[in-house]
Amino acid sequence: MRIDILTLFPEMCEAYYSESVIGRARDKGIIEINAVNIRDYTLDKHNRVDDTPYGGGMGMLMQAQPIYDCFNALCEKLGKRPHLIFMSPEGKTLTQQRARELSELENIALLCGHYEGVDERVLEAIVDEEISIGDYVLTGGELPALVLSDCIARMVDGVLPNDEAKSKESHYDGLLEYPQYTKPAVWNGMSVPDVLLSGHHANIEKWREEQSLKRTKERRPDMYDSYMKSKK
Ligand code: SAM
Repeated sequence: MRIDILTLFPEMCEAYYSESVIGRARDKGIIEINAVNIRDYTLDKHNRVDDTPYGGGMGMLMQAQPIYDCFNALCEKLGKRPHLIFMSPEGKTLTQQRARELSELENIALLCGHYEGVDERVLEAIVDEEISIGDYVLTGGELPALVLSDCIARMVDGVLPNDEAKSKESHYDGLLEYPQYTKPAVWNGMSVPDVLLSGHHANIEKWREEQSLKRTKERRPDMYDSYMKSKK
């Protein structure tokens, strides 16, 4: 799989994905991830990529031309058109389910807005989908694009050291994860639950399932209700 991040701040993205799980997957050639500088495609002689909004109002907007040309150059380079996602607080909220679906695609491009946003016409012309990482506003789309890339990348086979681990994590199957403990068995007067020290695998599995349901019911009744409905 290959992810291209279209941004005005490529260094911000590179700093993150050269490290961590994604960095290792990149080194092993399991996923390819690159940042493309939108500014390289401006036709403005002063290298500008933004201008004031028609109708007045605060701030600046990213112009259509550099984004459009940047995306077309990427399509030409790849010899195909990647699925283009605009990171936007107005998009559909990111879910584990959507990240899993996106991890099946071969090529994805993520467009990062900045300033007050982006000229709507270029969004209409080239964007396939808008994704938000939550109901709040950040300064730019770089952090959201990295959040989405990380979430997608760890769903790709071979990226995590133990692929089975991801299916046990929160949100994978619509539940939150059970509580986990590591050594020592007693810390600060608090003991690890006896069942986890018993070595009895079936009982441990049962306890984890119960804890996962209990925790989801307490913390995320919305998720719990959907899960229970899906099991009927
Ligand atoms: N004026 C826009 C609005 O009210 O919807 C907000 C623009 S925001 C300051 C600049 C850029 O940051 C956006 O174009 C988008 O790319 C990114 N961004 C901010 N919050 C985001 C979020 N919650 N999810 C995804 N992207 C976000």
